Amino acid sequence: MKGDEMKLRDKFQVKPGHGVKLKDWNPDNTAGYDDKHKAKEMLQETCERLSQLQYRLYAENRRSVLIILQAMDAGGKDGAIRHVMGPLNPQGCRVTSFKAPTPVELAHDFLWRVHRAVPGKGEIGIFNRSHYEDVLVVRVHHLVPRKVWSKRFSQINDFEKMLAAQGVHILKFYLHISKDEQLERLKARVDDPDKHWKISLADFEERRYWDDYMRAYEDVLEKCSTKYAPWYVIPANHKWFRNLALSRILLETLEEMDPQFPPPACDIRTLKIE
Ligand code: ATP
Ligand code: MG
Repeated sequence: MKGDEMKLRDKFQVKPGHGVKLKDWNPDNTAGYDDKHKAKEMLQETCERLSQLQYRLYAENRRSVLIILQAMDAGGKDGAIRHVMGPLNPQGCRVTSFKAPTPVELAHDFLWRVHRAVPGKGEIGIFNRSHYEDVLVVRVHHLVPRKVWSKRFSQINDFEKMLAAQGVHILKFYLHISKDEQLERLKARVDDPDKHWKISLADFEERRYWDDYMRAYEDVLEKCSTKYAPWYVIPANHKWFRNLALSRILLETLEEMDPQFPPPACDIRTLKIE
């Protein structure tokens, strides 16, 4: 396996303030990694190191990590959560899935339901979809007027900046698949009775809006990739590379955070264990 010396974080991060054309981001890219089996071994090693760092983050109890996952249907959010977060300790790890808002949620501002799901100190939180739906599906289907959704980019940036200042380390991943790959995955669901439950007519209908979604994603990536909450475009046509890239970027982030065990609450030397 050749691999690339450059950190994956640098390779796939959308540089703040830069324009994004998704057709320039190859969803088949594997960054020089060419051996699927070795990549799986690397993923396992990465996950073991992640577990150790999660243990420290939990013990430190000062900061948290928020992972935001966005993708087109069949883009691999569920698979990514299973493979990358599965090995973590469920105590201290929370996944929240955001569906179409309920009437109560709609009666509040769009960040209300999101804010209460933000991980607390020591926790790793994963958002399966997020507040970004409010400038994606909402925009593509004209669920609110342009003058409402267009203000949300800066509202989101302010919100995320406030979280970051509170010690929430935010990583945002767009799992980038091609339109053809999506079709293959949707067809595979039709062919596999165990996956029939995942099929929704809407997924096939939404394909008509593919280009609108790409434009909406480009705006999100361009306007909301910031120093304190960067977006990463993860090439996701190859599931093994998607998993490796996600776990490596998470590891690079946690290594940089370098969580520390707090000092013991009592003087260990004076303990009498009888
Ligand atoms: P799967 O990949 O397993 O199908 P999913 O995340 O697509 O999982 P679904 O229940 O199929 O889950 O879809 C959730 C739906 O909720 C999506 O179509 C999404 O666009 C929609 N949704 C999420 N947030 C909002 C929002 N703020 N406004 C309107 N629709 C939303
Ligand atoms: Mg769905």
